Amino acid sequence: MLAPVVLILPCWILGPPAAAGFSGAPPSGGDAHSVYYQDKVAVLMFHHLDETFRSPVTITPRQFEDDLAMLKAKGYHVISMEQFRAWLEGKAPVPPNAVLLTFDDGYDSFRTIAVPRLKKYGMTATNFLIVSFAERPRRSAALSYLDWQAIENLYREGFDFYSHTYNMHDLVMVRGCPHPCGSALTHRLYLSDRHRMETTQAYRRRIQEDLFAAKQALEQHLSAGERRHEERFFAYPYGETNADVVAVLKELGYRWMFTTRPGLVTRTSDPVRLPRINAGAPDITAEKLEQRLRSLAGRHPALP
Ligand SMILES: [Zn+2]
Repeated sequence: MLAPVVLILPCWILGPPAAAGFSGAPPSGGDAHSVYYQDKVAVLMFHHLDETFRSPVTITPRQFEDDLAMLKAKGYHVISMEQFRAWLEGKAPVPPNAVLLTFDDGYDSFRTIAVPRLKKYGMTATNFLIVSFAERPRRSAALSYLDWQAIENLYREGFDFYSHTYNMHDLVMVRGCPHPCGSALTHRLYLSDRHRMETTQAYRRRIQEDLFAAKQALEQHLSAGERRHEERFFAYPYGETNADVVAVLKELGYRWMFTTRPGLVTRTSDPVRLPRINAGAPDITAEKLEQRLRSLAGRHPALP
């Protein structure tokens, strides 16, 4: 086997891009009866939750609960992935101010911190898993990920899980970048022992095998019970994609893929590049999140 130069780094080394243009005073007004947008969905993105651990994609339990309280008080309606899919397929409407809650990477804090608070507010959420981590969930002293037992239990309770690759979340060396800076999913590897880049054919085979392994594992583990899991949604690591990745995902039956580009999803959004709004950074308070949602809805244009 060749030995590619791959560094295993957590998601926040690149981190989701900061959304620009949301400065200014928060909008006034808005309550449980206000309509900010209709026939659109704001897909929020979270990562990790922790009381003391700090990172650009970690928020405190209090901050998360403030977000949920804000969504409820201001009249946002959290929908399930099934509702989102039915709306995308033109089979059912979504309520006004519809919000879909998503988490990336499959941290165990989803189970221990997010889920109890989601239940308290009667809300549901989806987690995009780095699927191989479910086999070895304890990654370091500070970070644990969901194991299959937890994933299966939460799925039975109504929470959803989709692929965020099997094991292609690492950052790799990319030409022109002095440090690992590109997703292993979207970049050919530099094979240091052969002093050359991975061939295009080998790259395509690698991502095909990885994405198939993720789909297969999720379908196997989530097939039991009354809910019928179908692998149709995918979230790109770091929001990065390319034509090969899109082609392989489509071959495997995926229909809707999420980026980290901010915006509201409409029925005419590009299905392989759906926008999401980062809500999981420490500086994005509930007040700022509301401001972002209102700004993206066009009711409170961003200040220059
Ligand atoms: Zn990620």
